Amino acid sequence: MPLPFPQVMFPDVTFISPAFLRERGVRGLLLDIDGTLMQTRDALPRPEVLAWMERLRREGFFLYILSNNKHERRVRAFAEAMALPWQYLARKPLKKGFSRAFAQMGLSPAELAVVGDQIFTDMWGARRCGCHALLVESTDTYLWYFPLRRLLELPFRREKP
Ligand SMILES: [Mg+2]
Repeated sequence: MPLPFPQVMFPDVTFISPAFLRERGVRGLLLDIDGTLMQTRDALPRPEVLAWMERLRREGFFLYILSNNKHERRVRAFAEAMALPWQYLARKPLKKGFSRAFAQMGLSPAELAVVGDQIFTDMWGARRCGCHALLVESTDTYLWYFPLRRLLELPFRREKP
């Protein structure tokens, strides 16, 4: 069983450059929303994050919204505003949602990077499926359970290629 270590950790998504992705053979990104692109209570990401997404798209990367959020409306509204394919209730780290995304994108796991803020959903799912595992600092530090989550994640919060 693969352990849920991230391969590379970033302060936030805007630090993930097209050059970095290309060097690793990445052609598409499976993006988490909450805590990754924006705070769970926000409707839209910061302008810098939107610009980052646009830049990746312009440079030919495929973006896909893979969210565990159970509110279909939240995920749909954002994904449709960005004209991106999406799944809500993806149940990461289970493989089923990932597999559906691979099929819809026509890309293999090795060509995809999972970008997320959580170890036991995003990173573990990425590792189980053979995707690149890129962890960002969560924007959701205000959540009441955040300290507990961070404590549980601590053993795995380091980079392992
Ligand atoms: Mg998240």
